[in-house]
Parts: sequence; structure tokens; C-alpha cells
Amino acid sequence: MNTTRRKFLLGVSAAGLGTMALGYLKTFKYLFTFGRRGPKPRFPIYGNVHLPELLKAKAPTNENGNYIVNKDYYYANTVCIGCTTQCGVRIKVDKKTGKVVRVFGNPYNLLSSDPWLDYDKPVKESIFWVSDINESGLTNRSTVCARGNVVFDKLYTRYRVTKPLKRVGPRGSHKWVEIEPEQLIQEIVNGGNLFGEGFVEGLKSIRDINTPIDPNNPEYGPKSNQLGILGTNDDGRKTFIVHRFVKAFGTVNFSGHTSMCGLAMRIGQAAYFGDFKKLPHAKPDFDNTEYILSIGTAPAQAGNPFKRQGKLLARARTEGPLKKIVVVTPTAVNTDNMSIGAKYEWVPVYPGQDLAFVMGLFRYIIENNLYNAPYLSIPSEKAMKAANEVSYTNATHLVIQDQGEDYGKILKDQNGDPYVIDAASNSLQNAKNVRTAVLLVNQQVSLNGKTYHVKSAFELLKEAAFEHSLDEYSQMCGVPKETIVRIAKEFTSYGRKATTDIHGGAMNTVGMYAAYAVAMLGAMVGNLNYKGGMSVHPGPYDAYKGPVYDLLDYDGKVKTHGVRIDRAGFKYQDTTEYKTKKAQGLNPYPAKDKWYPFSNAIESDWIASSAHGYPYSLKALITVNSNPAYAQSGFSNVIEYLKDPKKIPLFIAIDPFINETSTYADYILPDNVLYEEWGAMAPWGAYLTKITTIRYPAIESPNAKFKNGESIYAESFFIELGKALNLPGFGDNALKGADGKTYPLHRPHDFYLRAFENLAMQDTPVPDATDEDIELAGLTNWVPLLKSINGNNWRKVATIMSRGGRYAPYNTAYDGEHLNFKYKKMLNIYNEELGSTKDAITGQYYHGLPKYIEGPICADGSSLWTKVDKNQYSLIAFGYKSNVLSSPNASSDKLRDIKLSTYIDINSKTAKEFGIEYGNLVKVSNPFGQHIIGIVRVKEGITPGTIGIEHGLGRLAEGADTIYINNKKLPAMPLRQTGVNINMLGIQDPARPKGHVLTDFVTGATARNTIPVKIEKIRSLA
Ligand code: SF4
Repeated sequence: MNTTRRKFLLGVSAAGLGTMALGYLKTFKYLFTFGRRGPKPRFPIYGNVHLPELLKAKAPTNENGNYIVNKDYYYANTVCIGCTTQCGVRIKVDKKTGKVVRVFGNPYNLLSSDPWLDYDKPVKESIFWVSDINESGLTNRSTVCARGNVVFDKLYTRYRVTKPLKRVGPRGSHKWVEIEPEQLIQEIVNGGNLFGEGFVEGLKSIRDINTPIDPNNPEYGPKSNQLGILGTNDDGRKTFIVHRFVKAFGTVNFSGHTSMCGLAMRIGQAAYFGDFKKLPHAKPDFDNTEYILSIGTAPAQAGNPFKRQGKLLARARTEGPLKKIVVVTPTAVNTDNMSIGAKYEWVPVYPGQDLAFVMGLFRYIIENNLYNAPYLSIPSEKAMKAANEVSYTNATHLVIQDQGEDYGKILKDQNGDPYVIDAASNSLQNAKNVRTAVLLVNQQVSLNGKTYHVKSAFELLKEAAFEHSLDEYSQMCGVPKETIVRIAKEFTSYGRKATTDIHGGAMNTVGMYAAYAVAMLGAMVGNLNYKGGMSVHPGPYDAYKGPVYDLLDYDGKVKTHGVRIDRAGFKYQDTTEYKTKKAQGLNPYPAKDKWYPFSNAIESDWIASSAHGYPYSLKALITVNSNPAYAQSGFSNVIEYLKDPKKIPLFIAIDPFINETSTYADYILPDNVLYEEWGAMAPWGAYLTKITTIRYPAIESPNAKFKNGESIYAESFFIELGKALNLPGFGDNALKGADGKTYPLHRPHDFYLRAFENLAMQDTPVPDATDEDIELAGLTNWVPLLKSINGNNWRKVATIMSRGGRYAPYNTAYDGEHLNFKYKKMLNIYNEELGSTKDAITGQYYHGLPKYIEGPICADGSSLWTKVDKNQYSLIAFGYKSNVLSSPNASSDKLRDIKLSTYIDINSKTAKEFGIEYGNLVKVSNPFGQHIIGIVRVKEGITPGTIGIEHGLGRLAEGADTIYINNKKLPAMPLRQTGVNINMLGIQDPARPKGHVLTDFVTGATARNTIPVKIEKIRSLA
């Protein structure tokens, strides 16, 4: 730099500083001197920053580079619930204040680390392992994502509920009074005129496990089913809540959050894996796959496990064998990275039209014989073993086509063994006796004197795929035909190392079939159980039914039965309603409303079903951290029912915050938050080795306490409530040991510390924790309790707690070229259960395998476009997951500091068409009168003709509204209202009773990704 220019710049700076200094004199004074009110900060430059985890030792230690662990803190391994991934994390807690000051990954836990640390390494070593010493932490990274780094600030928000609240005034009037927990329990158990609005029935009288709800429909079950308990994702506490309370009370009505999250995907995969009960879920083996086709989800942007997938993908595409990842979504995502060039491809698709894209792939693959015919021709497990294969399908099994009661069933003998056409003899044979069966069959066969018209499952798939031309599929999904052809060729060229994934994108009216189709692509290459192929995870170590205790069993546990409030898991054809109509010679179709035989729970149907009394009405609702009013598409259609105590007379919300749903509750019971909670859980998928992550109150809860000294939270409440109701399974002798002895359940630790003991003692028991492990993990104060509950095993339980769970080593992942844990059931090219069941409304058989259905469709099978003017509502709105925000984190202000708002995303072509520019304020409306107002973000990375909204903001509660507690005002924080919520646009299904939202027509999953909308400019904000 020449000296004249340098002097000029210095001059400008000095002059500028001088002018600024006049205005910011006070700030400068504080900046340079830290001379503010209050004590002098610890460091002149860094202020009161916390010291690092490792400190240089004053005297040489001759180990670890002369560094020692900073013992002003303890380092507890627990779980992040920043999103549904539930990563094992490590928290650094200031011993003086008891407050969390930092969150890291847990080096032992594969959700945060890969490689992960050997289980028998001491806690001290785990701290050095991820440190800067010898740059060890560069190799052994243990991370938390942006969200997981900061959400712990919600532990300390002023909007937290710490004492039980009772509403004052009508539901939703935001006025509360604090009450003692004992009063709450007394009132909800016994009922009475609780709100001056008339008598409210208490839980004691609702718990009648013998009297039918409706004697005319005995299959509905006992009156106790009129209590519904609505949870959220399984945060490790579901087993306690379900087995210790729900089943003790005797209700069938428990639900998580699946119908507003990924139900369509789960049932679609379950159809392929042939298990609608356990809902197996497959993921690519990221470490060894060579090609990933990701449809309606994208690693590093969304999906579960969010952080682990992102990490594995980053490694696979740089150091690993991954040649390419193709993401088929309506919006471009964070899976992309400039440095990986052609290894990534984004294929824009119309929302809800993934099915057309995949059926196009099937058409090309089948037409051009690109499928693995020898694999698909294997008809049985015996033939699979003979062929040295590790999975097999029913592609060659024969589906009866004759109309009548056998329609859609697979031709089988009296033992249930299927028949196939043997390729060697061209004759009908039992599959178990055949090595290779004919793949394409469409013929008559004779069996036991009867003739059947049968088609093989693969023939049916071919016919379904050939229903439309590639040009038609291309037009429907918006993906050029050449791209469909190229991807079909690419995918099949990688053989067993080609993999697929799908998740939230399937939340549309035909999403189940899209998910089924995506999973079935794997059968075209035979990738299941192969290294580099698709994996169904090996599951957890069992915490609850283990070598030391059976924590699920107790005397008097109710065998719950009856129809659920959401009509899930039950066939309409088994109801009295159906049978009565049949007996009267009437057409039994349509039923009064939808039934969902393949789904296990559909919480989005609860409120409207109860309001309409079909199948019956709930008398009481308990929500546990659940927030459908924010998270469920179209919930605004049922708010009036939730507000009305006549619809559900008693509503208790267990919630650490007053969210969009609990704001309408009669009572709010505080819950614990994040690292204050108990739990034991397994990851969602994308892991090949056994793992159970645990959490325990690693920091103290600020909540008020019960008289026995236990803080008030979900489990402690259910124990006290169970005792007050005299339910089985609580109090003395409630827990069963494998030694035949019984143990008490008075406090949650009675249950969870024994669950941890089960974990510690199964297979080869874990090593004992050392005194140093215990000290560093902050477990010193736990020792007396561990000794009293776990006896001689107490140090092993301390090991489980100090490592945050139990984890198998990486070397248990593979068995040569196969996965060690193999999914064993037959894969379903045709799902017989699905294909031989009729829809309760249309009376039509469900398709037993994927085929193109044009969405969006209503519950009666009609196109939504027959009720909506397509010219006026020409855009399709969809939601997409945020890589930063997530719905349970409204109370994290730090998270909002990272991402302040969400926007209405449109393509530049769409913007031009509607005369809209970047930054305009616009109104987006659906055809049924609901709208949102937000700011437009114009971007190229979104399919033209669509509107995308990132999920996570647009809040109406949890500090976004003003509330009054004990007449004291807690004012709203306007910043908490930023952004828009796609779910406010969710629509009522015009073919269903009021309040029921548009859903996937088979599973009942809410269809939040295919909402017809229009957009209007309000004004420019420039
Ligand atoms: S992905 Fe991030 S927010 Fe989600 S659990 Fe893991 S660390 Fe927490």
C-alpha cells in the first residue's frame, strides 16, 4: 500500500472513530475497561467466559501433554431433544451454578461420533479424545448441530411453567392460576364443578374397564377408552407412559406424533417389509453405498437421524465410495456442496408427484430388463439360502384375480405356503420346493378341483407401471423424460450398492404408495442386507425386559382392547356398523367416516372424531409435550372443538411451556426439559450396530415438588396419579425382578435406574465405573441412590450413566459383504393384506402394490380439483424441514438469533407471473378461507408453480402471546411471532365431516405437501 493512501485511510478511521466516540462514549468506556456496574470480569478481553475443559497443569503430569481436566465443571452424557434425532450429547455443567454452559457431542455415541470411542475407555480419556491435544479431536470429532448447540437456553426462559396451572375463565383465555399438585390430582381424579361451568367427570369414574362405551357397538371396548393420551415423538419415556400408566388405566388411546410427521412413509415401507405392526424402516448403508436416490427427503437438510446422516454423507462423498447422490424434491437443499461437483444432482419435482416419477423409473427398468431377474425369481427362504442370497421377495407369488372373496389373496396351500410356477417344470408348485420361479405370470391354474386366474406379483407391478407412458409420467411429475431414463439406468448400474430414501415428502394424499414404490426400487437391484445396500437397523439393547427386571409386567395390567378414537388398526368390515348394514341387505359403503386398518395411530383425527362422536367421544385428554395446534396441517379447522369443554370435558396438558395446544387446556402440569429428563431410546435408523442412548436428570429441575420431594414432571405425575386412582403397577411391589422378588415404584428413579441395570447386565456385562468416571460425569451425588437401588451392580449402572447409554463396537456392523444384522422377513412386491382389504368409504380394494394415482384426492376417492378452481388456486404449497429450526424450540431465543424468520419461497418464474418481487409482503390463501401473510423470498432452487415454506416459526404461543398467571401479566415477545407456518394453510377434506383434514387416503397421514393456493401481493417492503 502506498504511504499516501495508508495515511488517508488511517485519517478516515481516526476521524470516524472520533465522531463515533462522541455518540458511543459510554460503550467505549465499557468496551475497553469492562467498567460496568457489577463485579470486575474475570478476563479483561474475554469477560466472564467459561474456561475450557482441559487446562495446562501447573506442575508437569507427564501425561496428556501436561493437560488436566478442568474440575470446575462436570461432563454428563445425555440426550439432545433439539429435534427428533435424539443425539447422545455431552453437557458441560458449572458446578457452582448447576447451569449448562456448553453442549458437545458424546464421544461414545454414534449419533454424534463416527468413529465412536470404545466403550471401556474411561470418561477422562473421552474428554482428551475429542480435544485439541495432538489434534486428536480433528479425527475424532463429536459434534452437535447448530440447533443442538444452542437450544439449551430454553431451560432458562422466563416463559417456562414450573408450577401446576389451572385455567381461569373459558379455555384459551390465557388466564391461569397456580395450584398445588395435590389439588390438581384431587380435582382430575374426582371431578366436580371444576370451572363453574357444570359437572366434569373425573378420571376415577372414567376408568371403567368393564362397561362398554356403546352396548350397540361392543367392539368399541370399555369406557376406560374414553381417556386419550397424546404424546409426541418417543423421547425415551414412551415405554414408561404406555406400559406403566396407559395400560394400567386400560385405554387403547395413546398416540405419538406420527400422522403429522412421517406416517405415510412408515406405512409405505411397512407394506414393502410386510410388517404393519413393527413398521420396519430402512436406510442406505452410507459408509459403503455408491449411489443414493433420495426422494422427498435429503440428508443434511432433513430426515432422521438428521445430524448423523449429514456427517456420513459428507464422509461418503469425499473419502468414501459414493459416486453420486440424487435428490428429488421440490426445493433445493443443503445436501449440495460446490466441492463435490457432479456427485450431486437436484431433480426438481412437483409436490405430491413423486409417485409418477418412481412409476416412470419402474416402467423403464422393467421395459428394458434392467432388474435383477435371478434375485426376483427366488420364491422362498429355502431357495434364498440355496442361492447364497440374504433376502427374497414375493415377486413370483400368484395373486388371485377372480372377483369374490378370494380376490387379491395369494394362492396358498392349507398351511399358508404360497404357490408359484416352477421355472424348471413350468408347473404349479409350492414355493418352498422351487429354486427358481417364473417371474411374469398371467394364466389360469387348477388347484384342488378349482380353477383360478392368477397373476404373479411382478406381472402386476409391470402392468401398474405400464398404465402410463414415460411421457405421461414426465408430464405429471415435471421431471424430463430423459432424466427419468438416465436415473433408471444409473440406479440399476450400481447393483446392490444403489440405495433409496424417502421421508416427509410422502405427506400427501397418495404418499403411502409413493413410499412403498421408493422402497421397492431396492428389490429391482436386490440391495437389502448387503454392505453398501439398504439396512434395517439392529435395534436397541432392551432396557425394560432384561436379565435383572421385567419392567413391563405387573399384576393387574389391563389387556386393552377396542376401537381407537382414530379408527386406526381396525377394519371397518369387522364393525357392527358394517355387519348390521350387510345383514339388512344394505350397501355397507360408505362408512360414516374413514377407517385406517394399516395405521397404528392417527392423532390428527382425534379431536374431530371425538367432537362428532364417531366412533365415540373422549371424556378426557392428557397431552404430553404434544402440540398438534402448531404441528398438524389444518388444525385451525378443529380449534373450536378443542375450545369447547362439551366436546372433550377434561383436558390436562403436561408441558414445560404454554404452547399453541396447551393454551386451550384446563390444567397445565409442568414437565422437565432436555437434560433434566429420564429416558432410554434407540436411534431412528442409519446405524448398523446395537445402541441404546439414555438420559437421566443430569441437572436439577426448577419445577415445584411433590410432597415426597420429587420434582413435578410427566413420570412423577403419572406415578402420583396412578396411586390416587388405585391403579395396578404403582407403589409397593410394583416392579418385578427376574429373581422372583418385587420392588416398589414410588419415584421415577425406581423404574429408570433398574432399566439402566438391565442395559448394564445384558450380554457381557459392562465394566465398573471408576471413581474418576463418576466424579467427571457428575455422578458423585448419585452414588447413595445407586447403591440402594442397584446393589452390587451400582458401578455398572454408573458406567451406563457416565457413557450416556450402551453401544456395540463398529466391528459388529458387517458380515463379509453382507450386514451383520439382517432383516429376515420376505419383501412384498405385492402386499396381500393391503390388496385384499376394501376402503371403508369407497368400498374399493386398495391396490396391493404401487400404481400411479393422481393427487390430491379426497377421502371418497374424488379429485380435489373437482371441488377447487384450479385456475384460481394454481399454485401448490408445501412445507420443508429446516436444518436449523424445529417445532419444539419456540422457546429458544438463541436459535432465533441464528435464523430470525421463515419466508414464502417462490421461483423467479412464478414471481414474474404474479408480479411479485423479492421482499414483497404477500398473502397466500387456500380455497377454504384460510391464509397466511409473509415476506417473499425469490429463489431459483424451487420448482416453478409451487410455494415452499421452511418449517419451524410462525408461532402463536410459547412467549408469542401475552398470558396472565395469578393476575400477573407475562407480556408477549414480538420476536417470537416471526415467520410463517405452512400448517395454517392445511385444508379440511371436503368429503369428510367438519374438521377432518386432507390426508393420505390409505394411512390418514396429514397431507401438508399438496395444498392448492393463490398468492397476492400486499405491498413492497422496500
Ligand atoms: S440433530 Fe441437532 S438438534 Fe437434533 S438431536 Fe441431534 S444435536 Fe440435537
